[in-house]
Amino acid sequence: MASIYSGIACPHCGCCATEDDYYKTGEKFIWCFRCGYSFYRTIDYFDGNNPVYNETEHEGYGMVFVVSKDEETDDDGRTILNRPLSDKEMDEFKQLFLKENVDLKKSYFVTYENGEFTTIAGTPPEDFYIAFEDYKAKMGEGNLELIVPVPSLGN
Ligand SMILES: [Zn+2]
Repeated sequence: MASIYSGIACPHCGCCATEDDYYKTGEKFIWCFRCGYSFYRTIDYFDGNNPVYNETEHEGYGMVFVVSKDEETDDDGRTILNRPLSDKEMDEFKQLFLKENVDLKKSYFVTYENGEFTTIAGTPPEDFYIAFEDYKAKMGEGNLELIVPVPSLGN
């Protein structure tokens, strides 16, 4: 289906998010890989010729990104946090970063609560926290990092 991918300011944290706009159907998807915000508008059903939309929005609570030094492990990859973590989950994610083969220069564990990012472990990329307008100015309009959806933690 025809859609336009573009970099936008995240409605939740203001950093660079990706919007996938299905301009023909009016469906729209937004993901933020900084705070973990997501928004989905899909056609639920048609009322005559008019689409009736279903909208789902998840606030972002942060991001866990694990990269191993040599061989990939099952823990590798991103986890979007779309609800606050329990103390137990917090500990479990922290444990991941204590493993010997985790590359702490590439991996990061960041939370986003009450409008603030906190680095819990690892090293977020240099431009991770940059506000969208500054990011765009730095990267150039055509070079924005566009992202594809990944599994989230769930509710
Ligand atoms: Zn965001």
